[in-house]
Amino acid sequence: MTDAPPGSNASNAGEIVFDGVTKTYPGREQAAVQELSFEVPAGEICVLIGPSGCGKTTALKLVNRLIPMSGGDIRIDGRSVNDHEVTELRRGIGYVFQEIGLFPHMTVEDNIGSVPRLLGWDKKRIRARAAELLELVGLDADSLRRYPGEFSGGQQQRVGVARAMAVDPPIMLMDEPFGAIDPITRDRLQNDFLRLHKEIKKTIIFVTHDIDEAIKMGNRIAIMRAGHLVQLDTADKLLADPSDDFVASFVGADRGLKRLRLWTLHDVELEPAGDGAGGPAVSIDSSLRDALSMMLTEGVGELNVTNGDGSPLGKVRMEAITGYVGPGGSASEGQVAQA
Ligand code: ADP
Ligand code: MG
Repeated sequence: MTDAPPGSNASNAGEIVFDGVTKTYPGREQAAVQELSFEVPAGEICVLIGPSGCGKTTALKLVNRLIPMSGGDIRIDGRSVNDHEVTELRRGIGYVFQEIGLFPHMTVEDNIGSVPRLLGWDKKRIRARAAELLELVGLDADSLRRYPGEFSGGQQQRVGVARAMAVDPPIMLMDEPFGAIDPITRDRLQNDFLRLHKEIKKTIIFVTHDIDEAIKMGNRIAIMRAGHLVQLDTADKLLADPSDDFVASFVGADRGLKRLRLWTLHDVELEPAGDGAGGPAVSIDSSLRDALSMMLTEGVGELNVTNGDGSPLGKVRMEAITGYVGPGGSASEGQVAQA
């Protein structure tokens, strides 16, 4: 069968559809994934989240056929993954393994170059691409000649992300890609990745067990429990309106505060600064959560809002912020700022 990798006819992104997907491992009574149905529109980041063992990794591995489905179907741009020749299928899908899975006996350059080599790229092109990707994920160029064992877990995960992006696949499956990285570096990598995603649209299924990471990374978030999909919504909907007690406890008792992170002061109508220009000031780029936090720390009910160079833009009062998350809050549908 000669065919193109999935997604290659779209604008470098492919729609993924899970249609009643079930996976039962041999010798297991309980299905690891059961009747899973959801869609990821082309170019979106869909986060899969849920407790350990709920079937996230299994769901990912079914997409590029690392394991076979027991029932249902997964389609990419309308075509079943089973209708693709498996190497072609995987060429269009970058995969970041939960357990990293670098080849220990190969240099970083050869790890990143493993798929390009299969495609017949020459050494020079592979080296240039590997160097470019290393910079992108924040590793030194001299890492190219080193072996995975010489790197920390977090650095190895960066190499894993670089490897998955090597041939610029339209689809990426990322299984807890930033899991072994310290919080500060993780925050940077998340930001880098989101920035990159704005430029190069890919369809991404991103697995995490960290609700804060899910809220930050996902256009939409799918919460799983014991092989089933419990709720799939935008972060705002999930935080505002969890479908049951499981989801509510999973997103956390502070879901109101988490929701405030979805907006910045740009989203709030400011009041005129007036003459009482003293008092603490906050940048208009701050999240509503940070602004509220500053009010509480400073023991004030309002803040002066300034733009990047510190010039005053107006004032924000606490009620303008808390109004966003109360019952019938003023957070209007569809204006959620995706980080
Ligand atoms: P998650 O990634 O959400 O932690 P997994 O998809 O790894 O969950 O596992 C889902 C369920 O399937 C678990 O009960 C796990 O024990 C089981 N499982 C995973 N891999 C295998 C396997 N190769 N053989 C049998 N059972 C498995
Ligand atoms: Mg897993």
